[in-house]
Amino acid sequence: MQTVVIASNNKHKVSEIRQILNFDDWDFKTLAEMGITSDPEENADSFEGNARIKAQAVRSLCPECAVLADDSGLVVDALGGRPGVYSSRFAGEDATDAENNQLLLAELEGVSTEDRTARFVCTIVFYDATGAEFVAQGSVEGVIGTDERGDGGFGYDPLFYPDVFDRTCTLAEVAPEDKNRVSHRGNALRALREMMTIS
Ligand code: IMP
Repeated sequence: MQTVVIASNNKHKVSEIRQILNFDDWDFKTLAEMGITSDPEENADSFEGNARIKAQAVRSLCPECAVLADDSGLVVDALGGRPGVYSSRFAGEDATDAENNQLLLAELEGVSTEDRTARFVCTIVFYDATGAEFVAQGSVEGVIGTDERGDGGFGYDPLFYPDVFDRTCTLAEVAPEDKNRVSHRGNALRALREMMTIS
């Protein structure tokens, strides 16, 4: 059995990780379960860079452990890729999801549906117990709507119409298991699972 520390305490992320990487000999622990506090400054200019910062910070506190960290965000074509790595703080350091969504709608005011293309991107950095690094990425393509729809999910979900659902509903309108089936984080975890299976 190997302990894998998830560099997060986010319940939603943790349950999705446990569901998809359900190897018999992996025992996932959150930071809280390890009694670790780690909140490094995420100042890289890429999702991969920020995921690596989070993973390395935990590994330095627990050098014998395997560690998994992820970083994700929304990339909007009409905004030159913004908010990107600034997704959680688009409308300011302590911005709420509602404030970020309002700013996104304001910045896309007047932009036609065909030009409102975007994707959620997730990069995972995983260190095995020996310190070998594995990087996996996943994304989900879609368009940004013109008003918020649905009560599920979090973040920009109420504005995001995935192509895979024919742009008929937002990610906040589908059941969590349907979101996980198509999501950027789900896809990144499945890519990592594949790497672990063949390595
Ligand atoms: P994190 O650093 O991976 O937790 O995500 C950074 C930010 O990206 C979040 O605060 C959200 O604004 C946005 N984000 C990431 N994943 C999702 C998602 O699945 N739905 C909606 N927004 C997301």
